[in-house]
Amino acid sequence: MKYFLLGPAEGPRFTGFVDAAHRWGLPGGLCPVCDSSPGGLGEAYPSVDLSGWSLRHELTEARQVPLAEYERLRDLVRPHAPPGALLLPGAEFGRLVGKAFGWWGALHLPDPWTLVMQRAALEQLRGEGGFKLSASEMDLHFQEIHVPDLLEIELHPRGRLHDSCFPGGRERPCERCGRQGDGLPDAPILDGSTLATGQDLFRLADFTTVIIATERFAKAVARLGLEGVVFKEVPVVAS
Ligand SMILES: [Zn+2]
Repeated sequence: MKYFLLGPAEGPRFTGFVDAAHRWGLPGGLCPVCDSSPGGLGEAYPSVDLSGWSLRHELTEARQVPLAEYERLRDLVRPHAPPGALLLPGAEFGRLVGKAFGWWGALHLPDPWTLVMQRAALEQLRGEGGFKLSASEMDLHFQEIHVPDLLEIELHPRGRLHDSCFPGGRERPCERCGRQGDGLPDAPILDGSTLATGQDLFRLADFTTVIIATERFAKAVARLGLEGVVFKEVPVVAS
């Protein structure tokens, strides 16, 4: 099985972007050992509706808190999150709320870590493609007269990069918060032992801004003539 990095298509038909955030989010947690926050930019669960949860007000404001306070909130919200969710500092929940601008592809990345689809494209991928995709409505206010019918695709963190693609080795994780400060390598390689079968679209657990698709998904998008994203093959090392 081949894997591909998802990137935005370029050109005047694919200019769509958002000024928006998901409705709730965990705060950043400042680690007392490494003085950083092990943030998970991009980790989002739009299908998780916290509107009936009594503690939701603690997750409405983007802020930095001591690591222990973040951990308290993380443990409280965990029963509402999908099984195996990382729930890194900054993880977001609920619908995307805000403003949207520009022209949108059938599949579209308004940010590198956020995938949206036109409803018709989603239905084709679910129907003819046979993909199980979790999609959520968005509360976006569009500036244009023609308002596209877009949904956000929920992507769960799965799989990691292989240590061999970090020139000079990978940083040792912080003993307190687990943060690894490595930047995304120029030539990423997937660690095959961390890839789950049956996952055609996911984000990396160690680089949550990176979206990965299988060859099966990339081929279906091409076959259906869906535009708006490009696929770049990323090698896999077995162990
Ligand atoms: Zn730390």
